[in-house]
Amino acid sequence: MYKEFGIDDKVLNFCNEVEKDLKERFEEFDKIAEINQLKVLKAFQDNKVSDVHFNPSTGYGYNDLGRETLEKVYASVFHTEDALVRPQIVCGTHALALALSSNLRPGDELISVSGKPYDTLEQVIGIVPAKGSLAEYGVTYKQVELNEDGTFDLDAIKAAVTPATKMCAIQRSKGYLTRPTLSPEEIGRAIKFIKEIRSDIIVMVDNCYGEFVCEKEPSDFGADMVVGSLIKNPGGGLAPIGGYICGTKDCVENAAFRLTTPGLGKEVGASLGVTQSLFQGFFMAPTVTASAVKGAVFAAAIYEKLGFKVVPDSKEPRYDIIQSVEFGEKQHIIEFCKGIQAASPIDSFVVPEPWAMPGYDSDVIMAAGAFIQGASIELSADAPIKPPYAVYFQGGLTWFHAKIGIMKSLQSMYEAGLVKLN
Ligand SMILES: *Cc1c(COP(=O)(O)O)cnc(C)c1O
Repeated sequence: MYKEFGIDDKVLNFCNEVEKDLKERFEEFDKIAEINQLKVLKAFQDNKVSDVHFNPSTGYGYNDLGRETLEKVYASVFHTEDALVRPQIVCGTHALALALSSNLRPGDELISVSGKPYDTLEQVIGIVPAKGSLAEYGVTYKQVELNEDGTFDLDAIKAAVTPATKMCAIQRSKGYLTRPTLSPEEIGRAIKFIKEIRSDIIVMVDNCYGEFVCEKEPSDFGADMVVGSLIKNPGGGLAPIGGYICGTKDCVENAAFRLTTPGLGKEVGASLGVTQSLFQGFFMAPTVTASAVKGAVFAAAIYEKLGFKVVPDSKEPRYDIIQSVEFGEKQHIIEFCKGIQAASPIDSFVVPEPWAMPGYDSDVIMAAGAFIQGASIELSADAPIKPPYAVYFQGGLTWFHAKIGIMKSLQSMYEAGLVKLN
């Protein structure tokens, strides 16, 4: 069948060889998926999820049982006191902005203790001036860089904390940086350290791309809030929109009062019929995430065997679903993205081109043929057209789809004469 997709024998054999060596690693990922599947199932049963919870609400959305139960299920899985899981949270950036702006007041100080936060947060915080930023509301900001080896700089964190410090933010995934992704355990050590400096400092973790990759989440290690997007891991590819904030009762209440209004909080917000997809997607998320992790490791193994720098490498432990491959040449990343696009179920016939996109300082090429616009739990890749010419690859609703995506990326580079296979 791979021939019908234009995969050459040489590409097929090369990929099959690589796959053979990954058997044990894949078993490890299946084990984690199994644990997380049971964790999610238990949460559904403990909260007595029933088909009445799939009914849509409209208007104010008072007494939306499905919405309330979904939030209980999320809180059970993340082991937090409460959760806010809403289609009215439009993306991950919105969820993070909400968690920050609702729990900080004028005069408070926010410290990012994992270095530069995700690009879209620069305007939220006001690192880059923007209307309505936290800076405009008198929230000050500091940043503590990670150590060279990607661990937390505990001394610098201690030195940075002042009586005004209200919150510390930690980003689990590397985002578009080449630092290592932080494990929940490593994040837990930093949380413990921060709480020893002052126990009332709120610790918020940007958990985007990290959910269900490990057995535990940062909230199992004392994070006051974990925050993410439903069109990434926890939506399981079925959630059409949404974001979540799981955390302490107080933090979640603040977020709810900010999302709707002071006083109304969690009591309103019609679900408009998406609740079933959010439930079902969350139920699927452990295995979907494992598929994406397998795809990431497969890509790492293939491209490191061809001599390219991959972060993380194929043997390192995984704490998120992002794989970067440094090609060092523009043509390579273009061919890689063409291959990914050609393997998509949607828009397989279009050819991606580098383009100037708002918010980026160079042209960017993006490959995505997704059921949900921009969903990056689905097979996707993007690359800024600038040195070191690295491609960021993620997603795959099924392992077999991730697999053919990567095979097509190699096929495309092979046909262009950019890689040699024996
Ligand atoms: C994707 C992502 C975000 C922002 O999410 P959007 O849904 O794109 O707004 C924030 N932080 C990290 C680490 C992410 O990966």
